[in-house]
Amino acid sequence: MKCEEALAKISAYINHTLSGRELEEFIDHVEHCPECYDELETYYTIKVGINYLEQDRQDAYNIPQMLKKDLRQRKERLQRRRAIRWMLMVAAVFVVAAGLLWVAVQWGGFSFDRIL
Ligand SMILES: [Zn+2]
Repeated sequence: MKCEEALAKISAYINHTLSGRELEEFIDHVEHCPECYDELETYYTIKVGINYLEQDRQDAYNIPQMLKKDLRQRKERLQRRRAIRWMLMVAAVFVVAAGLLWVAVQWGGFSFDRIL
């Protein structure tokens, strides 16, 4: 992702409207690009800061830290989602393999006796 793209996606990040893939690329970019990270932090501070000042929250002073936590949590969620997808794929492969084996046994005269 280029800086222009990342900068254009900052408000989408803050508003939670990025898709999984976009979010992944966005996080990857801001983690390695200090300029875009600064920009993100500024927007985040404005957005979150205003909310917190309205609510008079005590932890509003530590917004840069909250952004780091937010990025980390969203990344973990992406990784978890990917792990689940991978497990589902493995399960699907097993189901298909079992199905093929069943078909082979039923119709192909395939027998374990021949292998064992
Ligand atoms: Zn950048």
